[in-house]
Amino acid sequence: ASQFGIDKALKDLGIQDINNGTSTGSSNFISGEIISSYSPVDGELIAKVKATTKEDYEKVMQSATAAFKTWRTKPAPLRGEIVRQFGEKLREKKEALGKLVSYEMGKSYQEGLGEVQEMIDICDFAVGLSRQLHGLTMHSERPGHRMYEQYHSLGVVGIISAFNFPVAVWAWNTALAWICGDVCVWKPSEKTPLCGVACQNIAAEVFKANNLPEGISCLINGDYKIGEIMTSDSRIPLISATGSTRMGKNVAQTVAARLGKSLLELGGNNAIIVTPDADIKMTVIGAVFGAVGTAGQRCTSTRRVIIHDSIYDKVKTAIVEAYKQLRIGNPLDENNHVGPLIDTDAVASYNTALTKVVDEGGKIIIEGGVLEGEGYESGCYVKPAIAEAKADYKIVQHETFAPVLYLLKYSGTVENAIEAQNGVAQGLSSAIMTNNLREAEHFLSVAGSDCGIANVNIGTSGAEIGGAFGGEKETGGGRESGSDAWKVYMRRQTNTINYTTELPLAQGIKFDL
Ligand code: NAD
Repeated sequence: ASQFGIDKALKDLGIQDINNGTSTGSSNFISGEIISSYSPVDGELIAKVKATTKEDYEKVMQSATAAFKTWRTKPAPLRGEIVRQFGEKLREKKEALGKLVSYEMGKSYQEGLGEVQEMIDICDFAVGLSRQLHGLTMHSERPGHRMYEQYHSLGVVGIISAFNFPVAVWAWNTALAWICGDVCVWKPSEKTPLCGVACQNIAAEVFKANNLPEGISCLINGDYKIGEIMTSDSRIPLISATGSTRMGKNVAQTVAARLGKSLLELGGNNAIIVTPDADIKMTVIGAVFGAVGTAGQRCTSTRRVIIHDSIYDKVKTAIVEAYKQLRIGNPLDENNHVGPLIDTDAVASYNTALTKVVDEGGKIIIEGGVLEGEGYESGCYVKPAIAEAKADYKIVQHETFAPVLYLLKYSGTVENAIEAQNGVAQGLSSAIMTNNLREAEHFLSVAGSDCGIANVNIGTSGAEIGGAFGGEKETGGGRESGSDAWKVYMRRQTNTINYTTELPLAQGIKFDL
């Protein structure tokens, strides 16, 4: 690891001293059991943190609720200025944080840097937005009355995040929540706790330099148990949870039971439709990057390619050829395309998927397998695999979080491909490759893709922060990041003001005393 500058990155991020479980920021409260973070890159122990106990959690919540009272009264553009400074700090720490993301999570260094860039981008977006938290004005039906709506800060926002975007998902939420006047309590994935500590350290520095309470940004460590304490806490009006559909169903029920709000960003099963009019070169780039980027561990990773039978062989051959060029290895080495899976449990799910697809009648056309030997000591490196399959196989309907791509064939019109694409429980990202305007527009129409994201002539993965991000059905229905996603972080209030000496009632009701 030292050859790739990891030691320096850890030092820059204030992580080198936490092996005894001490840390900075509100994680100072933390005194529970030890969580050891091992790198999937080389299997080495990076550092340890302590999990948050129930008692620690209380202290964190007290710090958060107290900070909210200060923070909500700051004018929104001033909150934007703090987020601007946070974005500047991220620019300074981009290389170090990108490297930690790569080393702790296993994605390529380029993708690690890209993830930090997303954090910077959402900060820029939020700074502008801090002057645009607009409500509407309405005409009152009563004379001498004025009606308008305004958005107020909501309170403590609980953020639960997955291992695969260990820093960006937090920033998508916090940058918006902060300009909205909310404070955040974050539970990162127990698989990437150090990314959490690094981000907390960066945020804490900014709040301290501005004499603001660090409770505006709080960190708690641990697995689902501390997550459940958070989701059942009625002091948290909004839980934003990113992860598996299984987790989302638990979180949704717990939050709904106390009538809280939840924003859910859950699993995907994303497909690219390739029609007879597709540009094959673009299709191959989109499909291969979509399937093997981040070793198939993006929520928007391409899992299925649905190809028209007239061009099936041509597309298949081109994708197979591209797979032969892939280099698998240390993600910090920029010569490699594919890094490791997060852990050996993920390797087991990958193996299971490959067995199941064959059991159901599928045919493997690019062999999988776990790599062994020098450079692969962590046991987490697998070969991206391709199987020919049918849309209704159980395994094809399931999201396997690994580089397993299914090629499916369709015949007839694009409606048949759309039916196959929509015929899964998830609804996150989708794409069509076509130069045929009618097919493209049909795909985007109400009778087309049922996903939260529908693209034409780009792949399924790699969203920009300017659009609202999220998906339908078992993906959970939440939207975060751009567009008007900020509204979920605020409470809306309708105000009616009477500037006359009369008190007329609405709907013409008379009530004379
Ligand atoms: P996971 O569901 O195992 O864990 C996600 C987070 O939820 C972790 O922090 C975990 O500790 C917490 N958690 C689990 N059970 C909980 C419970 N009952 N109560 C509270 N918290 C709980 O997911 P993962 O393996 O880390 O991530 C992979 C999954 O995340 C994939 O399904 C992927 O598609 C999805 N994902 C979705 C998006 C999106 O925006 N739609 C983005 C990234 C990842």
